[in-house]
Amino acid sequence: MAGRIRQEDIAIVRERSPIADVIGDYIQLRPAGGGNLKGLCPFHDERTPSFNVTPGKDLYHCFSCGAGGDVIKFIQEIDHLTFTEAVERLAARAGIQLRYEQGGYVPGQETGQRRRLAEAHRAAEEYYAERLRTAPDAGPGREFLSQRGFDLGDAEKFGMGHSPRAWDELTKHLRGRGFTDDELTKAGLARRGTRGGLIDMFRGRLMWPIRDLTGETIAFGARKLDSGDDSPKYLNTPETPLFKKGQVLYGADLAKREIAKRRQAVIVEGYTDVMACYLSGVPTAVATCGTSFGEDHVKVLRRLIMDTEGSDGEVIFTFDGDAAGQKAAIRAFSLEERFATQTFVAVQPDGLDPCDLRLKHGEAAVRDLVARRVPLFEFAIRSALSRHNLDTPEGQLAALDEAAPIVGRIKDIGLRQRYAVNLDRWLGLMNERFVLQRVKDASRKAGQRSAPGGRARSGQEITDRGQPGARPETPAGAGGQAPEERYDRSNPVLRVEREALKLAVQVPALAGPAFDDLAAEALEAFSVPAHRRLAALIARCGGVSSAGRPRDWAARLIEEADDDRARTFLRELVVEQVQVAGDIDDAYVEVVLARVAELAVGRQITVAKARLQRMNPVDEQAEYGRLFGDLMALEQRRQALLRRATGG
Ligand SMILES: [Zn+2]
Repeated sequence: MAGRIRQEDIAIVRERSPIADVIGDYIQLRPAGGGNLKGLCPFHDERTPSFNVTPGKDLYHCFSCGAGGDVIKFIQEIDHLTFTEAVERLAARAGIQLRYEQGGYVPGQETGQRRRLAEAHRAAEEYYAERLRTAPDAGPGREFLSQRGFDLGDAEKFGMGHSPRAWDELTKHLRGRGFTDDELTKAGLARRGTRGGLIDMFRGRLMWPIRDLTGETIAFGARKLDSGDDSPKYLNTPETPLFKKGQVLYGADLAKREIAKRRQAVIVEGYTDVMACYLSGVPTAVATCGTSFGEDHVKVLRRLIMDTEGSDGEVIFTFDGDAAGQKAAIRAFSLEERFATQTFVAVQPDGLDPCDLRLKHGEAAVRDLVARRVPLFEFAIRSALSRHNLDTPEGQLAALDEAAPIVGRIKDIGLRQRYAVNLDRWLGLMNERFVLQRVKDASRKAGQRSAPGGRARSGQEITDRGQPGARPETPAGAGGQAPEERYDRSNPVLRVEREALKLAVQVPALAGPAFDDLAAEALEAFSVPAHRRLAALIARCGGVSSAGRPRDWAARLIEEADDDRARTFLRELVVEQVQVAGDIDDAYVEVVLARVAELAVGRQITVAKARLQRMNPVDEQAEYGRLFGDLMALEQRRQALLRRATGG
């Protein structure tokens, strides 16, 4: 086992892993002003983006859930990796060869098995791919592909391969490359046979590498080729430390840029369907890997589309026209409320999946299938109606009973009304008021059913605590604070102080000496403990004048911070935008700092006046005179500061 990664190599990995690019592999980021980027937080569910990335400072921060850190922390959190594993992952991404120091256990630096498992997959993928091109017993695999309209170039595009039929060819090959039996079983590439020896997980199958969003192969999907083989038609890698199938969408690594650009995702059923769509000019197709489309898949897609309230994104489910397809549609319907975006269904009347469609009717037919999508509600309602004979009044009423609850579930009231009117037309009842009443009853019933949970089921399950500034509360992540630490962001004093602290951490070159003077001059320059603690931390780190590069300065402060609460607060200030329309310049810094000083002096004046009022000017004449003089000086100073603060 190798020791810890060399410190200078970690620094190189950081330098060559631009945080916006790394995070952009997982979620769509859009410019948010001030050089910041914004997206939907991958660490909690939300409908308006409060996840901020500040490339210049190598930092991310979520204003809703408080998640935050640097580029290594992000990889640790999103992929559940140790520090070392995350560094190794980023190093591989940037093409950096890491050097290790032998021995010496360092907490948080356990050497990563993730890298080994990923390397084993890469080696297996190469091995399988080479076999598909050349091995004589891979003939049925090549035949399967050409029968479905794919050539070897297409197969190569998707990294496809072929697994040998013999028991342990891959196992032997990978052992020869230095992988241990333990690594091969952990990776899901081999398993114990009945006689105790290690055998290949996949044998005699056509292989699709399953890749994560960054394009790294983490599992395989495999289709049997021998009709005499009585094992399942498709097999997938079991769950491993690399592969959590509920969260992985096949093809997403290739599709994610187009999904973000077009704000559209097409969900198909099989690996060949993803390929057919891609080759037909529908580059937004993805498929689940041996599991049904679930909540975690929704989360991944929403972040790629940047699915926000009022956005014009589209999620399109494709289904076979048969009963299984209808069941799947109902499943999708239950997930519909999880999307803010509109959901659609694309169903080919003769039940051809995209792969067969391309084969029989050409690539244009695949594009047509997607273009002819129907809103999910319409599809679900029409499916319900199709099960009844609408030529008889009994059939019409039975159909209404089945369809009304579906319409009643629609969140948007306007949309619900429109569908109720449509339902009346589709039923042929010609009695809108009657249908509307039925829908209303169904809707109320649905509301009662979900009432015990305390929440309306109207998309509120996906909580969103909104934008910075919208929260009259404590610094993020600050649980269980003493009452005197109530932090009200709408308080104008706090706002201007916060602005001054932001300048000190974000633009030290501009804020430097002036900020340090302010802090030194007025011990009580800041009015709340959170601000005072940060000012003290800045002083402890040598003051803003000693900051150096902004990025290092922020990192130094975060490292020196007393506790997690202070770190979270700091990250907020590093990421939060400065409240100035144009560039941050000397004049702005001057105004903000003068205003903070003026407010501090104002507080001193209040204290001094109160003391004077309690004194007896006759008995304590000398003391009174001195204090009065101080008060006059303070008032003068305040006037001067006021002029500076207002630019006068
Ligand atoms: Zn969050």
